[in-house]
Amino acid sequence: MVRGLPPRGRGTIWVGIDDTDSPLGGCTTWVLSELLDEARAAGVDLIGEPRLVRLNPNIPWKTRGNAALAARFGVGRGRRRRVGEIGGTPVWSYPTGRRVDPGAAVDWLNRAWVRLLAASRTGESGTDPALVATDRPLPASLYWNAVRDVVEVPDVRRILEAHGAFVRTSGSDRGIVGASAAIAWRESHPTWELIAYRTPERWGRPRLVDGDSVRRAMSENPDLFLCADPRTRRVLVAPHTPCPILFGLRGTRPGAPLASAPTIRSEPVDRWVLFRTNQGSGDHLKVRAARDVSAFGSGIVRGTVASLPVTLPGGHVRFGVVDTAGAALLCLAFEPTKTLPRVARTLLPGDRVRVWGSRASGPTFRLEGIELLRLEARRSSPHPPKCTACRRTSRSLGHLRGYRCPDCRRKWPPEAAVRTVTAPSFGVGVYHPTPSARRHLALRGPEP
Ligand code: ATP
Repeated sequence: MVRGLPPRGRGTIWVGIDDTDSPLGGCTTWVLSELLDEARAAGVDLIGEPRLVRLNPNIPWKTRGNAALAARFGVGRGRRRRVGEIGGTPVWSYPTGRRVDPGAAVDWLNRAWVRLLAASRTGESGTDPALVATDRPLPASLYWNAVRDVVEVPDVRRILEAHGAFVRTSGSDRGIVGASAAIAWRESHPTWELIAYRTPERWGRPRLVDGDSVRRAMSENPDLFLCADPRTRRVLVAPHTPCPILFGLRGTRPGAPLASAPTIRSEPVDRWVLFRTNQGSGDHLKVRAARDVSAFGSGIVRGTVASLPVTLPGGHVRFGVVDTAGAALLCLAFEPTKTLPRVARTLLPGDRVRVWGSRASGPTFRLEGIELLRLEARRSSPHPPKCTACRRTSRSLGHLRGYRCPDCRRKWPPEAAVRTVTAPSFGVGVYHPTPSARRHLALRGPEP
């Protein structure tokens, strides 16, 4: 499907792509690296950093991490910076640029589309590649809706048409949702990920990435995040899928993964690209009332714990919350998040909390984090009361049968039991999942 005319060269050209891979293999970040290579061959410069933009993590038809990609092209100006290496040659990025002339723009986009199709898993189920190109800014709502809700393709199509965007798709048009959202991202709270790729002959074979070198990089560089989980000992930089990625280093500054990548001991790196990302931004989370968290949506809900937590088979913990409007939210803390079920198990009715997470098709709210705002007083288990006459500690007469003084034989009912106020096991504060159970978009928080 072809829609719109190639940008007429009013400004630099944004190109967004999505849906190029399938569960059998491929990776849209790698396809973007192919486009960077094609741009060099076409004599078109990269302006700024390429973008890796994560979208609604609950979309049932995503392949893996719901990633969409975008990059800006033109005639580069200013001091260039190295943001990758492909085929042994640097990928340069320019801080600003001017438009490419219209003929070159058409040629570049045609080449980009051909290269994208060649690099995509076209023909495999679930692969519907899309390329969106525009030299006019797209509305930020295209990003916010795609990261927080389920978006209808015709709605996106209408907006792209109104903006004169150039659209190419193969298969269904679904990929335009992600491709346009990646262009529309306004880069609030960016982080960076340097992705190193494997040589093609190794794709699908076990990865060789030395965990100790990753852990050392993390301890030496505090601006890296979610690279390893000290609690589970898992190294988080290498995927477990047959995709071309060898490892990805995430940083809160671009210099952090750039400095650490050469220290990672691994099999040969075929190419690498530094992406600007929305990972760790929490952009999918919006403060909502419980009833406004829709199916496949996410949110942050403030409320009061309404029921005692129940531990389910597998170690997951379920508890109820009622929000300020009186609407109920059934929360689930998954066992793999480690911290969250431990915290949830200690909740008492009346505790004030803020919970964040998301829903699949059912009503259960799967927790991504919890803040304990105000806690009811915790009391110890019941102790026998002291005898008021002789000050001896009484003895229990059995379950619900009360107490008796061993000296004077006076009796007390079960309600006379003494409960002392104790400190809560988890105090007021914010609790995040263990790093290996955090989502790409999850709010950044301290790592153990
Ligand atoms: P990977 O992370 O491995 O690159 P993926 O998980 O991004 O793959 P895709 O194969 O790209 O999965 O499929 C996701 C599809 O869902 C794309 O077509 C994208 O346009 C679409 N999509 C993304 N977010 C939304 C949304 N909020 N509403 C509707 N469709 C969406």
